[in-house]
Amino acid sequence: MGPVVGVDLGTTYSCVAIFQNGAVEIIANDQGNRVTPSYVAFTDSERLVGDAAKTQAALNPANTIYDTKRLIGRQFTDPLVQKDMKLWPFKVVPDSSGKPLIQVTVDGAKKSLTPQEVSSMVLGKMRDTAEAYLGKEVKNMVVTVPAYFNDAQRQATKDAGAIAGLNVLRILNEPTAAAIAFGLDRSHAAETVLVFDLGGGTFDVSLLSIDSGVFEVLATAGDTHLGGEDLDARLIQHLIGIVKKKYPGKDPTTSPAAVQKLRREAERAKRALSTKTEVRVEIEGLLPGVDLSEMVTRAKFEELCADLFRQTLLPVEKVLEDAAISKSDVSEVVLVGGSTRIPKVRSMLKRFFNGKEPNTSINPDEAVAFGAAVQAGVLSGERDKKIQDLLLLDVAPLTLGIETTGGVMAAIIPRNTVIPTSKTKRYTTAEDGQVAVTNKVFEGERPLSQDNRLLGTFELSGFPAMPRGEAQIDVTFDLDANGILSVSAREVTSGTEAKITIQNADRLSPEDVERMVNEAASYKDADAQALGRVEARVRLEQYVHACRKLLKDVELRNRMLEEDVLSATSDLDTVDAWLDDSGDHSAAEYDERLAELRDNSVGPVFERYDVVGQLHRARVGLLRVAAWRTVCA
Ligand code: ADP
Ligand code: MG
Repeated sequence: MGPVVGVDLGTTYSCVAIFQNGAVEIIANDQGNRVTPSYVAFTDSERLVGDAAKTQAALNPANTIYDTKRLIGRQFTDPLVQKDMKLWPFKVVPDSSGKPLIQVTVDGAKKSLTPQEVSSMVLGKMRDTAEAYLGKEVKNMVVTVPAYFNDAQRQATKDAGAIAGLNVLRILNEPTAAAIAFGLDRSHAAETVLVFDLGGGTFDVSLLSIDSGVFEVLATAGDTHLGGEDLDARLIQHLIGIVKKKYPGKDPTTSPAAVQKLRREAERAKRALSTKTEVRVEIEGLLPGVDLSEMVTRAKFEELCADLFRQTLLPVEKVLEDAAISKSDVSEVVLVGGSTRIPKVRSMLKRFFNGKEPNTSINPDEAVAFGAAVQAGVLSGERDKKIQDLLLLDVAPLTLGIETTGGVMAAIIPRNTVIPTSKTKRYTTAEDGQVAVTNKVFEGERPLSQDNRLLGTFELSGFPAMPRGEAQIDVTFDLDANGILSVSAREVTSGTEAKITIQNADRLSPEDVERMVNEAASYKDADAQALGRVEARVRLEQYVHACRKLLKDVELRNRMLEEDVLSATSDLDTVDAWLDDSGDHSAAEYDERLAELRDNSVGPVFERYDVVGQLHRARVGLLRVAAWRTVCA
């Protein structure tokens, strides 16, 4: 299939690498740089990509596009898109289906581009870089995305490759790629590794276990909107404030070119402050008659960004909590992303881990592309000893399951299960003569499905009518390596089958995942109570059902006195009426009713006829019942 390259398609910078002759090589671009700005620009005569596009940005702000990774796979109305738009000098408009389009002017004419098209130009540039170095055509790539990218964003990234005529063999999570880069050359001792990736636009924290060449992602957390650009923005605001104070009535934000110049100088100053304690920011002619010359100290920069730096520790705490692992059990802390060069970020992390030095053996800008190249090597069938036994495992960010009796969410794939995975659970019907079940697929952490997110619904129908509890329905959840979910249901005795693939154009954003997990924690007590109520109700319903079934038994009916049949039936009717009055009763009330039936009314009746064992068996059978919303013939 020819060479397969690994590409880190970053929000701000991209990097391409290849695994060959037993080693990874980071490929420098035509400017000699090992990372390439994810920038595309249009002038009246040409299209520029990479360094050339970024260099002329200040002169051509409205037609210089960057940050498209923030747009890819999102809706125009997405609050993040709306917020980001305010900082961009280029124009973004909605298309007819509500997706964002970037508008530029080429030769006086308006041109609209999808985020996928812009990303395809960056991927094309990375391909050209690789082809120039290898002297061969490159058709295949492994491309990385942030761990929390949803399916729409992953799919859009694949589409970007297709537009460039490339075959994206695998979408790989960036922190996982970084961990591969980190783990490849290590001894085979078991380790727990925390990957801290603070780049230009996104922040990902992952906790991994690495054992005998097998990587397992134990937990992930992060912030899709935290990175070097947010630090730049703080510095820009600071500089704007200084200009406004020195030149009353002048506002650099009214000039896109001035904003762009400020952006460039702020980033330059920030980088310098990683090695120096102060730096002078100088922009002559920021606006007509306005010059900026200001000393910025590292201390000032740290003060401006203090809250952002502090925020980086929250996801660190979260992954440890999710995986139930203590700080001291983390054997390595790996730094990834250009912003991890900032001394304050390093020192805070070091303090958090009680003085443990973060691992900086990998160049933070290149680690992700490095890992992608290793994965590319695996996929291209590279027979290197180092990668032969490399197995790659990712996790499901939220619990996936189906709705069962009483609206209870039955977990099939628990949160943080390693993917790809396939899990099957057996269910049965809740009604006699039931010939169909409606499967409702949910994701979320709450015990009742109404509090979780409905991903899709499908019906399994046409299996033979059977008494309640006798159908055997296997529900299988398949989550593939790219996080695409397929759910199938099969009635075992008849072989009837139905299936759904959740295309997930609409799966959750990382912010939503985080919110849902936090909510589940805060509702823990209330949820436990609600679940207890539902379960108590189901217990009572099942007991009533078992009694009614017994009363239909011909042999027993022949032996029973008519008055016993009547009194038992009337007691059961009373309970059913009480259940039907739809009032919300407490678990204790349901249990009280159940005890009353069992100990004082129908229970003793059945005892007299010596069929309690039979009743018990009917109940045990029914307790397995966890059927879906019922559809009867
Ligand atoms: P991404 O993958 O999100 O595009 P990278 O990992 O390439 O990001 O990191 C880019 C970010 O790192 C930019 O915001 C850049 O300004 C920042 N950066 C690069 N070098 C340094 C440095 N020496 N000090 C501080 N920040 C840096
Ligand atoms: Mg990155």
